[in-house]
Amino acid sequence: MSEIIISKQAYFHNLTQITNKVGSKDKVFVVLKDNAYGHGAVIMAGLASKFGIKTAVVRTHKEAKEISKFFENIIILSHIPNGSENKNFIYAINSLKALNLIKPKTKVHLAIDTLMHRNGLSLDEISKAFKIAKKRNIKILGAYTHYRSSDEMSGEFVIQKENFAKAKAQITDLCKIYGFKKPVFHSHNSAATERDSEFDDGVRVGIAQFGYAQFDESLNLKPVLSLWADKISDRILKKGESVGYGGVFSAPKDMKIACYDLGYGDGLLRYNGIGELNLDGGVKMLGKMSMDSFSCEDMGDRICVFEDAKTFAEFFGTISYDILVKLKPNIKRTIKD
Ligand SMILES: *Cc1c(COP(=O)(O)O)cnc(C)c1O
Repeated sequence: MSEIIISKQAYFHNLTQITNKVGSKDKVFVVLKDNAYGHGAVIMAGLASKFGIKTAVVRTHKEAKEISKFFENIIILSHIPNGSENKNFIYAINSLKALNLIKPKTKVHLAIDTLMHRNGLSLDEISKAFKIAKKRNIKILGAYTHYRSSDEMSGEFVIQKENFAKAKAQITDLCKIYGFKKPVFHSHNSAATERDSEFDDGVRVGIAQFGYAQFDESLNLKPVLSLWADKISDRILKKGESVGYGGVFSAPKDMKIACYDLGYGDGLLRYNGIGELNLDGGVKMLGKMSMDSFSCEDMGDRICVFEDAKTFAEFFGTISYDILVKLKPNIKRTIKD
């Protein structure tokens, strides 16, 4: 059966590198949304917790429940208040309306819009948020922002940092006035963490923990996930014969080929047989990918499809996130020490 192998060693190495850069484990919040970017949420939560991480960030309530036993704090980014809020989790407040709808006594972090204009409160909505929270007995424990272009070398990152600094000062004061505890702040995603050198706040690292760096080569991150497929059968493809749907690949000479048990039904982007898609080790996929299998030169019982999602991302003109997150939960996942 096809399999995802999770390297514990690579993961701990990445978390160590990130922790050393940021200054402490307590400031590293691991983003485990969307099945931990396809790596497997429960597996990665178990490893992160073993490493000593105390805070995880997820997208939904359901994701938070799945990993609740592993962390002291779980922050939910995209919950839309519906009265089902759980007092153990921390909910992002993406609008004043959400603050008006969320269940009393719920713990929240205010999302602050510092330029991205996707979600969150503008700076001039902050004082209103505290009034509502006080009236409705909502617990404001902290606030955060998200950088829209930390992966681009533009000045916008600096402008957002300045805006967030203003918001932090305001929120710190308001927490005192309204009798809330000293607030927790967090801001940097992976690219911002790579790019910056001083960290007052918590960082929310997603892709970097899984081994994908964009700027900071010195972090020397290592991909955590490798994808493997097993041979279903092999045959000789005679010169001039074609393999797969539509027969788009014809053998230039007699070739020993094999069919392996992984396809676009497992969440891989579909290779249509055009262009050269390299598998790990440099062999090429031959002909169109099927739903549950693909063919290539016979590489024995097991083949590594990729150890670094970048090869697929580059071929398909997308980002590594997109390749990883699509890997279906039904693929077996195994931790290797
Ligand atoms: C997904 C996400 C992150 C993590 O982003 P990476 O680029 O993977 O580090 C951080 N913060 C928020 C709000 C997110 O949605």
